[in-house]
Amino acid sequence: MFEKILIANRGEIALRIQRACRELGVKTVVVHSEADRDAKYVRLADESVCIGPPSPRDSYLNMPAIISAAEVTDAEAIHPGYGFLAENADFAERVEKSGFVFIGPRPESIRELGDKVKAKQAMVAAGVPVVPGSEGGLPEDPAEILRIARDIGYPVIVKAAGGGGGRGMRVVYTEAALLNAVALTRTEAAAAFDNPEVYMEKFLENPRHIEIQVLADGGRNAVWLGERDCSMQRRHQKVIEEAPAPGIPRRLIERIGERCADACRTLQYRGAGTFEFLYENGEFYFIEMNTRIQVEHTVTEMITGIDLVQQQIRIAAGEKFALRQRDVQFRGHAIECRINAEDPFKFIPSPGRITNWHVPGGPGVRMDSHVFAGYTVPPNYDSMIGKLITYGDTREQAIARMRIALSEMVVEGVNTNIALHRELMNDARFVEGGTSIHYLEQKLAQRP
Ligand code: ADP
Repeated sequence: MFEKILIANRGEIALRIQRACRELGVKTVVVHSEADRDAKYVRLADESVCIGPPSPRDSYLNMPAIISAAEVTDAEAIHPGYGFLAENADFAERVEKSGFVFIGPRPESIRELGDKVKAKQAMVAAGVPVVPGSEGGLPEDPAEILRIARDIGYPVIVKAAGGGGGRGMRVVYTEAALLNAVALTRTEAAAAFDNPEVYMEKFLENPRHIEIQVLADGGRNAVWLGERDCSMQRRHQKVIEEAPAPGIPRRLIERIGERCADACRTLQYRGAGTFEFLYENGEFYFIEMNTRIQVEHTVTEMITGIDLVQQQIRIAAGEKFALRQRDVQFRGHAIECRINAEDPFKFIPSPGRITNWHVPGGPGVRMDSHVFAGYTVPPNYDSMIGKLITYGDTREQAIARMRIALSEMVVEGVNTNIALHRELMNDARFVEGGTSIHYLEQKLAQRP
């Protein structure tokens, strides 16, 4: 096991990684921006290094500063968390070239799977079902583009190969709008992702977002740890996640889970990862793979009892991968509400000083948050300030516990989306389970 790990992230995930390290008896170095100087995990760290001004470009995305911090503190490995540099293959490569262990997949895997066109091709080769669409990137020839769309059938979605975070996508309903949409997406993709390549796939009209968690050792050993339903989304951003996914036959989940584990073996994938699918009419369609720990990994931890962050660290340390598929047992149901500092219905970010912070507790309640009373939410980063997770023997019990937890929770000084979560936990369609990825936006549009 490592003696010292550098945590190259901030917020709740920095604290989450730190907790995993401390349980493993590993010392932590936290790098932070000037805005995060007083964070809880900075104070709890064995060592901390300020790596620059608040702007992410100057701090959490500043590769030389992070690598120098690892050098001066003698850290052995770097955990990138999620967001920032977590899926940056160049960063992973620089970390390894500088003699440190990158806690994540091999740089080549990140590069291949981070290109959505290449990822889809790899999945087809590995036997994972994908959304029907163009085989590879779109050609220049307009007639050819029109033909591809006609073959797929409208509506289609034009997506950037290098896209991420819900950006670089455009839905097209008619042939008249197609070529313009392709040109616009190409221009945007070139500017935003430095890669003008776009591809096309069938736009599924009412799917659910279902994803499969995997852990693999880079060789023959790979396991899948069940699914998560992340269909409650706004602007392609997840708001609530749960595991297992309500109402999907277990044999379908098992079949797709096995496919994902097989794909890991084929790709010699190393570490934690997530295969994201759209699910419609009993079929799974791969959309992309995330080569990192995800925000919503917690719900999988709750129903499997497996600490995913510790597993990432163990795999990176080269420990013998001891998990077998039969060791992965699912029990009960877990739900996560992302708590954001924002207006609950207008979604305007609400940074500022938190004057009062009271978190809920009791059986089956987990709160992952770096926040405390007196903490100031900086305006420079994502608005998520915590994750409230509840667990129950059944989905009904997990929802009941979430309702109680949300009613106990007090946050003053900034706006939060807790009011939205309270409403959703009493929404008849959510309670029934199985809503599509469009449900939340449709519901919000109907609000007076
Ligand atoms: P990103 O990397 O930006 O998150 P994804 O490919 O994962 O992009 O897609 C994000 C979201 O966009 C999905 O969760 C889904 O809501 C929507 N989406 C993507 N592809 C399709 C599709 N073919 N049909 C319908 N919705 C889609």
